[in-house]
Amino acid sequence: MALVLAGCIEPESRSPYESLLAVPADRDMREAPLADRLPGGREDAERRRRSASPSASNSPLAKGIPDRAKGSIVAGGRAFGIDAPVIHWFDPGGFDAYAGGNPERPGPARSLHYEPGRPGLGRQLEKVRERVDLFVLHYDAVGLSSTCASALNNRGLSVHFMVDLDGTIYQALDVVDTAWHARHANSRSVGVEIAHIGAYPPGPSPLDDWYVRGKDGLQLDLRPGSVREQLSNPRYRTGPARPSKVSGRIHGRYLEQPDFTPEQYASLAALTRGLLEIFPRLRADYPRDRSGRLRRDVLSRREFDNFRGLLGHWHVTEDKIDPGPAFDWDRLVRESLQPR
Ligand SMILES: [Zn+2]
Repeated sequence: MALVLAGCIEPESRSPYESLLAVPADRDMREAPLADRLPGGREDAERRRRSASPSASNSPLAKGIPDRAKGSIVAGGRAFGIDAPVIHWFDPGGFDAYAGGNPERPGPARSLHYEPGRPGLGRQLEKVRERVDLFVLHYDAVGLSSTCASALNNRGLSVHFMVDLDGTIYQALDVVDTAWHARHANSRSVGVEIAHIGAYPPGPSPLDDWYVRGKDGLQLDLRPGSVREQLSNPRYRTGPARPSKVSGRIHGRYLEQPDFTPEQYASLAALTRGLLEIFPRLRADYPRDRSGRLRRDVLSRREFDNFRGLLGHWHVTEDKIDPGPAFDWDRLVRESLQPR
């Protein structure tokens, strides 16, 4: 565990919560089954236990729906369409950040892993959309969304979205609720954990177990018996968007990292586009220095208070380096601003 520098398995500060989540106030659903399946009872918990096992996955993607199928993200109990596959917390094979918090449910974890609504605003989307103006990007440091979901749950933490290696988006929490992923950014932000084993100084590291060198450069190790079988799309066959590791300094530390996958960039762009539509204060830009280049340090509290847009975890907290030097911020900005 000493090698883990960021992501799902590190603790974040929690916020106090007001009350247990009830059925959402806004039942104006475009996708009818949603409201009925919000934080439920034993049935949900049982489904969650089943879905924790990759072999039990019965996600729609596993049944041959095209990889770039349309999905939706849930905000205030309403569904907003995006051009990427999304598995919600109430879907078969989904990951449920509400599950730890319901005292009616069996199991040891009975405290909330999130805060219902936004501090002082509650859960009404019309109010929350005037507050949320940050989208915080993490890598999960465990490499797979299924592992990330378990790790977050075990630590009593949460995140709204996870983007797996194959581009599958998992939504674990309605964006009107406050996820616990980035300390003082939580109340204003939506968070995403992107599946990636991480960034490391040169030398032996977990990257050696996750990537192989093919004739076209670095590839994910997707041989039979590998991580591929834990993805929603078992036919997934690609690897990093760029053939070589990308290096760079974050907080002054020299790090190397293979790029994220093209499927992850496409899904992140679709997700960002959706969030830009839902949250009018959010901007498709990242923290820049005076020359307009990406900042690779933490924002002062004043800079943080005045910033609106896309943030890395490293911009929020001095001891975090995710999403790492390989993350292509310009690609995300460019693609998230492309019309659908
Ligand atoms: Zn992080």
